[in-house]
Amino acid sequence: MQKNQRCFFNIESFAKQENYKTDYNPFEKKLTINNDKTKWIFVLGFQFFSKNKQNHSIKTPLFLENDKIFAPCDEILPYFEKESSKKYFIDTLNQQITFKKPPPSTTKIAPLKQERAGTREVKTIVIDPGHGGKDPGALGKKSKEKDIVLKVALLLQKKLKKEGFNVKLTRDKDVFVQLGERANLANQWDGDLFISLHCNAVDGVQRQRITEGYHFYVLRAPESEEDKAIARRENKVATLYGDGSAKAELSPIEWIKLEAQLEKYKQSSYDYTEELLKSFQGNGKIKQLGGGVGGAGFMVLVGALMPAVLVELGFITHPKDEAYMITAAGQNKLAEMIAKSVIEYKKKVHRYRKTLQH
Ligand SMILES: [Zn+2]
Repeated sequence: MQKNQRCFFNIESFAKQENYKTDYNPFEKKLTINNDKTKWIFVLGFQFFSKNKQNHSIKTPLFLENDKIFAPCDEILPYFEKESSKKYFIDTLNQQITFKKPPPSTTKIAPLKQERAGTREVKTIVIDPGHGGKDPGALGKKSKEKDIVLKVALLLQKKLKKEGFNVKLTRDKDVFVQLGERANLANQWDGDLFISLHCNAVDGVQRQRITEGYHFYVLRAPESEEDKAIARRENKVATLYGDGSAKAELSPIEWIKLEAQLEKYKQSSYDYTEELLKSFQGNGKIKQLGGGVGGAGFMVLVGALMPAVLVELGFITHPKDEAYMITAAGQNKLAEMIAKSVIEYKKKVHRYRKTLQH
């Protein structure tokens, strides 16, 4: 090892190699690594980590570079060695543990510019109004999901065009489009952002009365039963009207195959979702459901080679949400909030690109 060049290793790939599960939450900058026995939690930029709820301090925190999380070999590896009773050595050829120069300052770790790589200027926006034609989507007392999302999509298209964006719609009238076809179209158009518009729904009179709010979803292995259920409902069209090959849920193998794609667009999808949240919070008349962001296996997002988000505007099964979503004023406001988020996201990407040129 050269002088003043410390050893850092890609901790996620190392953990996977050692049969740990890993999960990185880019909002909280929190990396969780666990198996049946041990759970580690690291927070990027912080000089401590926890192992089975016990805190340990470190001098050099973990940091992100080129979408990978690096940890200092000398401080972290001994803990893993103790855990597995193995001795790890640094194998630069296999890149199992990589040499990396430390970041210039440990206090300024992981600013925005280090979190995203290879983002293009945002020009083409693909809007995907869910459902259509023979597939009505979820049903409210007075309306159908397919009609609400089409109206909002058309308004959104108008607003974005005015701002100079190239805007494409996967459908601009009441027609049926297969789920897989929607991502294909987005790829053909070489989109920079894919926004799929939907209305949420729940069963049961009691739950319908209390469940309301907007929620945004990225393609990610689901963490909760609720998120799984929403994905199943949105995917149902594939099994109902598909060609027979489609399913409502992704298998573990399919998740693994998707991983590279997920990694590539994960950070920019979250970056956009962050703008959606900012734009919706405190605006419009629909509340935020929970944390506002979730992940699950939405088939419509699978295959889109660009940052992609599924927007659940509100609950069509909730009287107040539905009443808002079916009025022209409500639809206009919803389109306005989404348009704002796209404009802010474009600025964010532009700023990021500028910092890269320096
Ligand atoms: Zn839907």
